[in-house]
Amino acid sequence: MKKPNIVILGAGYGGIMTAVKLQKLLGPNDANVSLVNKHSYHYQTTWLHENAAGTLHHDKTRIPIKEVVNTSQINFVQDTVKSILPEEKKVVLENGELSYDYLVIGLGFEAATFGIPGLKEHAYTINSINSARLIRQHIEYNFAKYNNEAQPKEERLNIVVGGAGFTGIEFVGELANRIPELCKEYDIPRDKVRIINVEAAPTALPGFDPELVEYAMNSLEAKGVEFKIGAMIKEVTENKLVFEKDEQREEIATNTVVWAAGVRGNSLVEESGFEANRGRMPVEADLTSKQYPEVFIVGDCALIFNEETERPYPPTAQIAIQMAENTAANLKKLVDGDKHLEPFKPDLKGTVASLGHDDAIGVVFDDKKLFGWSATAMKKVIDNRYLLKLGGPSLLLKKGKLNFFK
Ligand code: FAD
Ligand code: NAD
Repeated sequence: MKKPNIVILGAGYGGIMTAVKLQKLLGPNDANVSLVNKHSYHYQTTWLHENAAGTLHHDKTRIPIKEVVNTSQINFVQDTVKSILPEEKKVVLENGELSYDYLVIGLGFEAATFGIPGLKEHAYTINSINSARLIRQHIEYNFAKYNNEAQPKEERLNIVVGGAGFTGIEFVGELANRIPELCKEYDIPRDKVRIINVEAAPTALPGFDPELVEYAMNSLEAKGVEFKIGAMIKEVTENKLVFEKDEQREEIATNTVVWAAGVRGNSLVEESGFEANRGRMPVEADLTSKQYPEVFIVGDCALIFNEETERPYPPTAQIAIQMAENTAANLKKLVDGDKHLEPFKPDLKGTVASLGHDDAIGVVFDDKKLFGWSATAMKKVIDNRYLLKLGGPSLLLKKGKLNFFK
């Protein structure tokens, strides 16, 4: 009997965990499994804000794929997906083509820019090792440049972060720790530097526990972060950001705008003809595509609904990992000839967000609120648990956050 071809696109949380689980579940003669990713490494997207601020080196965040994927069992293809041809069951890569019997799409997220003028051209986004490294370099360059100009420009030292969702809040938390170090290094008084977080909703972290939101804002303000709440970003140019608050237009002189105000699924899925809502594809209960039953969707490209609230689940690493485990188990069933696939049921353990390396907030186990050291420690436990799951104790020792007091 012909071995089925299983192709996994993307080595983010969803893609790499599907591959790692499959290599445990399948025997070498059960299927041909290929994993396609544009880089030779997997990265922990959940640490990218630290790389972008410069508080954590990006080598800690990235993991060579060959360290966790057994390439004698799984064919790793380092290439960029150009399009998916679902009618022909083919994937077009920059340097070739792959045919599949089963496909797993785990191509992740990209920034949603909502057509705001100037954003694509002038704002930075935190969505890959490359984009995070660019932000770190850009901020450092502006600090270095500041004292080399006859007329020092304030826009070099005004860092504006768009959006006070979890990404924006976690990033300003890291910046608040990093800026004093940069000020020392480049001989710039701390009071000349502004970190400004602009949020359109009437509160930071809309929808999150109000007591913890207040704690987060107080903690960040104490470290020098300014909040503009109820302020909708309208335009970004090379050296300013325009927002509207209380029907008034205001400007901030800046040449560093980091856009953290929303994500969408990878636009490649729509370009390939899949029906999607901002890059997120509605799926059946077992995570197969509503259009193509041989296609599974994991991570931020999948749109799944909470039956109780009838609202979509927010796209998170936590859900992407669980989707991968469900999908690997279902692929094993299909390879064994069993067509009764398991439905996916998210098992949410809570949300924990950092406010720099020394503070955090969270809600875990339904309603237990955490803040301060206990939340910071919990975040490390979550991150370390993932590393253990992905690559065992050796990966945990290499990449884990093992110091719970720093
Ligand atoms: P991604 O992690 O986006 O990975 C997609 C992969 O596909 C990447 O490796 C990429 O290189 C590859 N790829 C993309 N396009 C192509 C192509 N054309 N060809 C080949 N390869 C391609 N969630 C949590 O649960 N907890 C957190 O604490 C948390 N913190 C976060 C912090 C930040 C700063 C950010 C930005 C997000 C955070 N999230 C968190 C959300 C979480 O990171 C995402 O939900 C998660 O990364 C989605 O995983 P994924 O597998 O769908 O895709
Ligand atoms: P988000 O969509 O959760 O938040 C974006 C924020 O930007 C919102 O508060 C929104 O009101 C604001 N916004 C939108 N347009 C704006 C405008 N024009 N001007 C000003 N503000 C504007 O996006 P995110 O924070 O990038 O998070 C993406 C996903 O990743 C979410 O599902 C989130 O839960 C997850 N995430 C989780 C963690 C964590 O668990 N620690 C950390 C980061 C991200």
